[in-house]
Amino acid sequence: METTTAFEGLSCVDCGSTFDAETATHRCPDCDGILDPTYDYDRIDLTPAALNGRTGDSMWRYEELLPFPRDAAVTLGEGGTPLVECPALAEAMDVGRVLLKDEGDNPTGTFKDRGQSLAMTAAREHGATDVALNSAGNAGQAAAAYAARAGLDAHVFLPSRAGFTQKAMTEVHGADLTVTDPVDGTSEIGDAGKAYAAGMDDNPEWYSTKTFVTPYRHEGKKTMALELLEQLDWEAPDAVVYPTGGGVGLIGMHKAAREARDLGWTDELVPMYAAQAAGCAPVVDAYEAGTDRHEPLADDEVDTACNGIAIPDPGASPLILDAIRESDGGAVATTDREILDAAIRVAREEGLETGATCAAAASGAFALAAAGEFGPDDTVVLLNTGAGNKDVDTLRAHVGETATESSQAD
Ligand SMILES: *Cc1c(COP(=O)(O)O)cnc(C)c1O
Ligand SMILES: [Zn+2]
Repeated sequence: METTTAFEGLSCVDCGSTFDAETATHRCPDCDGILDPTYDYDRIDLTPAALNGRTGDSMWRYEELLPFPRDAAVTLGEGGTPLVECPALAEAMDVGRVLLKDEGDNPTGTFKDRGQSLAMTAAREHGATDVALNSAGNAGQAAAAYAARAGLDAHVFLPSRAGFTQKAMTEVHGADLTVTDPVDGTSEIGDAGKAYAAGMDDNPEWYSTKTFVTPYRHEGKKTMALELLEQLDWEAPDAVVYPTGGGVGLIGMHKAAREARDLGWTDELVPMYAAQAAGCAPVVDAYEAGTDRHEPLADDEVDTACNGIAIPDPGASPLILDAIRESDGGAVATTDREILDAAIRVAREEGLETGATCAAAASGAFALAAAGEFGPDDTVVLLNTGAGNKDVDTLRAHVGETATESSQAD
């Protein structure tokens, strides 16, 4: 297996045992905890100045801080996404700057590509022939694309509520797609998880690229923070508002912010704010209750059109809550109405397209601003996790509904 110089191996976040990445491939062999890639930071031979002179702006620009080198990467050019100034939003929120990190600019239209690029690289290094996962939709589509790139077979399990684009493109990339049957009108990510687990039991050779089953998805997504900090000249922003489902990106970004601080590239951590939909907000509830882990919602309690964050039982919530508290961030839930209004507002006032799920960041930031969380000189970053055209139906329907309402009110 080809690895980078500083990469040491995997450490269990629960029991602390360490493992060789060649033999440990997924969860902790001792306690089934989440494994996290570790590095010998003294051997990181990279500085901001060296990055300045480096061309090529995929996420593999930061290969020294990743487990596998660029030569081994399964890549479609993911990362290197723009950080776009949003003056109208800054004025509305009464802060110094609002910047939108536009992950819609990735190969399959979401930041899921960063995680699948690294996880698929690991799969190929481990000699996998088949990969499998369940997903709310975007990770399935990304896995199908990266598996195609790597020459692997993908088995993707999605709930019926996943969007049409995600289901369609999963098949266009040649993956074997299972959509779980609706129960009472819809099926949820947990139903897709059961079908995936049954598939894994029947096919022991399948290699999982599922959230926090592989140690490499949060590690790939950590490049979002490295990129963001580099785009800000290594000056930490005052807030990153992140639409949170399983928390893979938030945990990854927080890890990178710690690395950048510990390497002396930045002075401070990046305050991470988890934004959720009020119809599925287990992380916000736990944060507000001051607990260390979430209370899972029952599937029939989930009530939101934001598919990417309709995650009623985010297993890594202790890590999400730690990241929020350690970075001095926060958590905020807004209603679907507010989220979709925010998507339309961003599209009209800034010309930027955000998915329905992603707009939870904008509406969460509006709510935080209204609650006095930000100062007048603050730099607030909205993480736009995916492209607006993933959710055209939901967005268009909302425009239609609000137009009807206002004409009825006239
Ligand atoms: C998966 C997804 C999320 C949630 O991501 P996590 O890192 O699991 O919290 C948010 N937005 C979009 C568009 C997604 O696809
Ligand atoms: Zn363990």
